[in-house]
Amino acid sequence: MAAVTDVSMRHPHYALGLGRAATRYIDVCMTLPPNPQGWRLSLPAWIPGSYLIRDFAKNLVGMQAETSLGEPLAITALDQQTWQLPGTDTETVITYAVYCADFSVRTAHVDSDHAFFNGSSVFLRAYGLEALAHRVTLNLQDAPPAWRVATSMPADPSVLDGYRAENYEALIDYPFEIGVFELTTFEARDVPHRMVFTHPHPKTDLARIARDVARICAVEIDLFGGAPFEQYLFLVALDGQGFGGLEHRDSTALIFPRDDLPMIGETAVSSAYQRFLSLCAHEYFHSWHVKRIRPAVFENLPLAGPAHTRLLWVFEGFTSYFDDWLVRRAWLVDEAQYLNALAQTINRAVRGKGWSRQTLEESSFYAWTRFYQQDENAVNAIVSYYTRGALVALMLDLTLRRSGRSLEVVMRQLWLDHGRTGLPEGETIERLIESVAEQSLRDFFHQSLRGTAPLDFVSLLTEFGVRAEAVAEPACTVVDFGAVVGGDDPRVARVQVVFEDRPAACAGLAAGDEIIALDEFAINGAGWQKRLDRYRVGDQVRVSGFRQGRLRHWTVTLAAPVLNQWHLTCLPASVQAAARGAAWLAVVDTGTNA
Ligand SMILES: [Zn+2]
Repeated sequence: MAAVTDVSMRHPHYALGLGRAATRYIDVCMTLPPNPQGWRLSLPAWIPGSYLIRDFAKNLVGMQAETSLGEPLAITALDQQTWQLPGTDTETVITYAVYCADFSVRTAHVDSDHAFFNGSSVFLRAYGLEALAHRVTLNLQDAPPAWRVATSMPADPSVLDGYRAENYEALIDYPFEIGVFELTTFEARDVPHRMVFTHPHPKTDLARIARDVARICAVEIDLFGGAPFEQYLFLVALDGQGFGGLEHRDSTALIFPRDDLPMIGETAVSSAYQRFLSLCAHEYFHSWHVKRIRPAVFENLPLAGPAHTRLLWVFEGFTSYFDDWLVRRAWLVDEAQYLNALAQTINRAVRGKGWSRQTLEESSFYAWTRFYQQDENAVNAIVSYYTRGALVALMLDLTLRRSGRSLEVVMRQLWLDHGRTGLPEGETIERLIESVAEQSLRDFFHQSLRGTAPLDFVSLLTEFGVRAEAVAEPACTVVDFGAVVGGDDPRVARVQVVFEDRPAACAGLAAGDEIIALDEFAINGAGWQKRLDRYRVGDQVRVSGFRQGRLRHWTVTLAAPVLNQWHLTCLPASVQAAARGAAWLAVVDTGTNA
């Protein structure tokens, strides 16, 4: 074939077919320009925002390649996700199917009801062409006629159902939802936003949700001093149970329980709906903070293996702190509702002993194999860069607010300094925060990021008119057994988590043990708590159960409840504390949400 004359033919093109959606396949036909050296292709091993090797390539089926003249090309596998094609002087056409059966925000899910996919599950990368625009065409003629398309990938007006991403990195950062859905729209600070709800309950108050989310978006745009996108899309897949969110540059994919959204006629913000609003606030915040301000090690598509950063406490911890706060700042919940959400974050950070075994920087670095691969011992072994990171953010925010500054100012400075260039590993972020604070925070950073001591947030909260009261974990308000025990098996109570150095552990119980009797009387998960609460501190209880099919007996000495959880309330405070608290807790509506 002659030299390529049509410029668009130099760009990778993907035609997607949905004719086999009912069998959970997307059919892909990828066309690449001539290349005498032959194309090297790969699929990412992970998706940005979710730090686990997922080996998306395992879902590719029946890959074949040929020239545009129909001559077959041999495909040589180089590893589990990379292939080499021979050189050609014609276009190369690669066909494959992608099996899409994971109902999550991270991969792809296709069936007779809809098609949802992330590009990282579908679009092969052609090495050397990453910087070029990539084109996508959807072949919808075989899909149900009522199906519509929702994506923030820019449309290619020259092609029916055509789209065009500026480069490969952008290509895999625009999830698609194709099917029957409800669409609501709103503007926040003149920026158009869409919310797509897949299979909502017909009485869900979508208009109210859009109004509420619009307020959050406006607060965030103001916080950063402008939106970094021209439009934004929330893709909300509703489910019976699921929960999750994944951030993208101009959109987010969420999964949320259908029955937790407000119905028409409701006016209160339930804790479940508050959780939804925080989730929206969280993923939207990521549009600035981790999609654009991001660890330098995430640049240049390091998608073949883990990309290690010690900075996830900044990206996920700060975002986790701001998400609940932004819902309050948008005046959608009251102070008590906000403090309750904040307490839940703190309580997840301080439960167990993991915080004393792993630093925040280690938590970030080992996210791939530890935080993302938690087992029953995680509570004893690791700390979360989300929750302890949020606690660090709270302490920094309050420290800054003592002198009239705030973590909001830090975010704006971070956006100015690193919105276009990656945030390097090391102490750059610490120096930036110190420059805003105009004071040294070295001791605090050393303790909170590279240390494993408890963090004293209580006195800081008191300065802001908030009382933090230590209370027992919900499951051990009367006595402490030292384990999470439950399950729905009517014959046994399953030991799910054992806390180190507490009664069950001291008696030799381990996660996985199946308890059948307490003091010779049968017990199951449903009846566990009620029975346990009939004992008193210091009682010895004979525990009988099975481990690997062998009957065992343990004697557990019940201890006093461990007061390691926190309840936050507003105090009658000094004038100074009340004033500080009013600014932090957004008691005064400054009018930014009008
Ligand atoms: Zn996040």
